[in-house]
Amino acid sequence: MNCSEGWKLTLFACLVLISASLLKADGETQPGRDRKQPVDEAYTEKMKKYTTEPFFTSPLVNYLPASKNVPTPEAVLGDVAGAPGILPYAKDVYRYMRMLEKATPRVKVFSIGTTEEGREMIAVAVASEENLKKLQENRAKLAKLADPRTLQLNDAQADIIVAEAVPVYYITGTIHSPETGAPTALMELAYRLAVDESPYIKEIRDGMVTLITPVVEVDGRDRMVDIYKWHLAHPKDFYPPLVYWGKYVAHDNNRDAMGVTLQLTENVMNTYVGWNAQVLHDLHESVPYLYDNTIGDGPYNAWIDPILADEWQMIGARNVAEMTKFGMPGVFAHGNFDTWSPGYLMFIAALHNGISRLYETFGNGGADTLERTLDPEEYARTWYKQNPPLPKVMWSQRDNNNYEETGLLVSLHYFNENKRMFLQNFYEKAKRSIEKPASEGPAAYVLPADELRPTVQLELLRVMQKQHVEISRLTSAATVALPKKKEKKPGKTAEKTGAKKDEKPEPTSKTFPAGSYVIRMDQPYSRIADALLDYQYWSPEDPQKTPYDDTGWTFGELYGVEVARVSDAGILKAPMEPVTELRVPGGVKGEGTIFAIENHAEPALASLRYRMKDADLQAAEEPFEAAGRKFAAGTILVKGADRGQLDSSSKELGLQPVALFAAPGVKAHPLRAARILLLHTWLSTQTEGWWRLTLDKLQIPYDYASTQTIAKSPDLREKYDVILFPPVGWGGSLNNIVNGLPTSWGNPLPWQNTPETPNLVGKNDATDDMRQGLGWEGVAKLQTFVSAGGVLLSVMDTAQFASGIGMTGGVSTAGSEKMKIVGSVVGTRLVDGASPIAYGYGEKVAAYCDNGPIFSLSSIAGSRRRRRLGPEMGARPTGRGTKDDPDFAVGRLGAEAPDQPESEVWENPSITDEQRHNNPRVIPPAMRARVVLRYADAKDLLISGLIEGGGEIAQHPAVVDAPFGKGHVVMFSINPVWRGETLGTYSLVLNTVMNYDSLNAGRKDDQK
Ligand SMILES: [Zn+2]
Repeated sequence: MNCSEGWKLTLFACLVLISASLLKADGETQPGRDRKQPVDEAYTEKMKKYTTEPFFTSPLVNYLPASKNVPTPEAVLGDVAGAPGILPYAKDVYRYMRMLEKATPRVKVFSIGTTEEGREMIAVAVASEENLKKLQENRAKLAKLADPRTLQLNDAQADIIVAEAVPVYYITGTIHSPETGAPTALMELAYRLAVDESPYIKEIRDGMVTLITPVVEVDGRDRMVDIYKWHLAHPKDFYPPLVYWGKYVAHDNNRDAMGVTLQLTENVMNTYVGWNAQVLHDLHESVPYLYDNTIGDGPYNAWIDPILADEWQMIGARNVAEMTKFGMPGVFAHGNFDTWSPGYLMFIAALHNGISRLYETFGNGGADTLERTLDPEEYARTWYKQNPPLPKVMWSQRDNNNYEETGLLVSLHYFNENKRMFLQNFYEKAKRSIEKPASEGPAAYVLPADELRPTVQLELLRVMQKQHVEISRLTSAATVALPKKKEKKPGKTAEKTGAKKDEKPEPTSKTFPAGSYVIRMDQPYSRIADALLDYQYWSPEDPQKTPYDDTGWTFGELYGVEVARVSDAGILKAPMEPVTELRVPGGVKGEGTIFAIENHAEPALASLRYRMKDADLQAAEEPFEAAGRKFAAGTILVKGADRGQLDSSSKELGLQPVALFAAPGVKAHPLRAARILLLHTWLSTQTEGWWRLTLDKLQIPYDYASTQTIAKSPDLREKYDVILFPPVGWGGSLNNIVNGLPTSWGNPLPWQNTPETPNLVGKNDATDDMRQGLGWEGVAKLQTFVSAGGVLLSVMDTAQFASGIGMTGGVSTAGSEKMKIVGSVVGTRLVDGASPIAYGYGEKVAAYCDNGPIFSLSSIAGSRRRRRLGPEMGARPTGRGTKDDPDFAVGRLGAEAPDQPESEVWENPSITDEQRHNNPRVIPPAMRARVVLRYADAKDLLISGLIEGGGEIAQHPAVVDAPFGKGHVVMFSINPVWRGETLGTYSLVLNTVMNYDSLNAGRKDDQK
């Protein structure tokens, strides 16, 4: 209560209240132990012992309440939560949570799915017995707030629910496996919430439901505990870095909330949405001692409701204030985390009308107590960090647990105190999402029925479904008005070029055929759909100079499918039906024994190739006409295949082969189910993990081996046709790839299953020592492999590696100087559509680029073409005449200079006779690099995200096929396979694979 509302009170009473509030802090319950609360003295004593400074704890966690019937974490851990040397496996954490469930009606455990390796994920609900009894009933109430359409957007009805519903606060721990503290903190937190009778805790328990997933990355947790056990058994040795976390990716598991490709994302998403929770609070560990980055820094994601931005401020600031009041140093908000990308797990809440939160606490990467020395910028006092961390301190896992639990309890309490407001906001945000078409727009996104890549369109719609976005389908054609483009004032440049005169007028309407998919924006989860399908612009002038992650992600572009943003609200009145089951009709059409499948760069084509391993598949090298229709170059011809098998595979994959009576009379070459090796280093496995995930989803088989293994392999070419060497990511320099980690000192770093480490390998790879790299022998093996006709596909840092070891002929690579392309969507242009790598692609291809290396071509081996320095190059020297006149020499007749050979940035430069003279370095035309795609011109480079100084890479090759011996090194400056978001460029890789022994098809060489 506050005085202005208390109109019934006399002034006198109000004054009494004020003086009382000095004692009771605005009437809010004080944190801390209740005098009557029995305490587990032994447990409390140990907590105190493991806390390294008296100010690293708080009145909330400096005691453990005792209970007669509920076991403390000690029952499973053998010591207190956060004790040195103790790191429980996920199954031990679960065992404890289930012991709680058995011992008290205040805890319930729910299974929420499994991981890629089959481990269980759980969510633990803690609340009063009464709250848990009426979970279903309460969930139905929350569901109404979550979808105000069920209340006809009636605020009065919502008010009634807001007044009585019990909110849900969802906490998730240890998604990042080396960040090890959360599981024990959450075990103890669950215990405290279940047994503590202090008013502060009781209010939380009675007022809301706390939902806890103690381990998000379960596969990685078990690996991390293995490593830690190995470390305890070999205390004097270096221990292996956690090179694999989950089956596929490591740190990027917290970048999957857009594409939802990992099980853990899907499971948390379904739990968060299924429970209609109001908050998703994800626990991390990195900086000292508690960085509440709920508030974060700009730029904020442009699609969040402003109500959420205010909630971030309230809840984050209050968290810091309370903990600072406890005297705990190093608690702060703000910092340098920008809240732009929606890829983080917590952001599931932000774009599903809830509140996203995240802590970075301070972890030691295990349960050792360590002396930690900070950098000056970490312990500096700043405006947002008034009580900064100490420069040097002993730090324990218990300290970390104290901070995590204190922060969470403070947050839970504050949230509960203000739950009516937060529930009201929850409703309000959902309602505003539904009103989006009328408020800010757009009205809908439409994915047309005549899409060239229906199987890829389907995958994009599946992402929408995983995001709990409703999809509709037009039952008849619909026409919408297109927004008028703002006319640009005719500037000086238009005058000069004289362009725009003959252009056709812009169309004013667009018709979508029946069957087109409509993603309506008048639905509760419109914001996530809008965020994923819209375009992003990060200004190079933005004060935030270090974007935290990708700056652009426009899904329609990255998927290479048409997505129309429709602002005409008329679309919402068009006849349409809800779509529940997504399917692309497939199967063989027509009569005949030869089958033609149009090629529009759909990854499903490669799935078909591998599914029909023994069938004769060919690629037509030229366009042709048959069965009354036109087929483009790259069309797939299936010969001698069982029609039944082709029909059923096509149905499953959504492909539509057309039967022909005779093979078209055009040149064709075999499409192979090439034998693939996916090559990895022991430096980092994450970026290649996205490639494994992609191949697995497409059901394309491959072998998986490390650089160490291939160095020892007797004959790579005998076993493989294509080696995929995806980006290494961090540390992927030539030196590191070849030499690995230092071996002249230290101990071997095994990555193997042993009794101590039973979970390390899973279905991935093993080694007795992670330190060795590819070595020079391995380099020779790679060279022999390609010389003998194999294909090495290299990307970003591995393309630089291939160039560095002399395998890319006239293609040189360089890092950029000032350019900044931070995970952006960029434009590329088709240079050589006859290359099989480009089959199925049009003139423009959108691609993901993250400061890709700059490729330059030279027709002279070992020389580097000078990068174009701008329009001034080639300008005439100082002398007589106008700018375009030749100079003259006094006393001599003018000599006509021969024309300089000219070539575009993406072309092999022509060779002059001077250069050719006795020059063994001149690369014969047939051995020169073939550019498949180049980056667009500077002005067209940016599609989404941030590009600064893009002129450095504009027009340079983006995908190059460099012959080497009898084989090829295919080089990518873009990353075609990234976070399950880049389906539009997958086929550049898959085409390379299937056409590996015909990559020279359609090649036209210069005569010189
Ligand atoms: Zn983290």
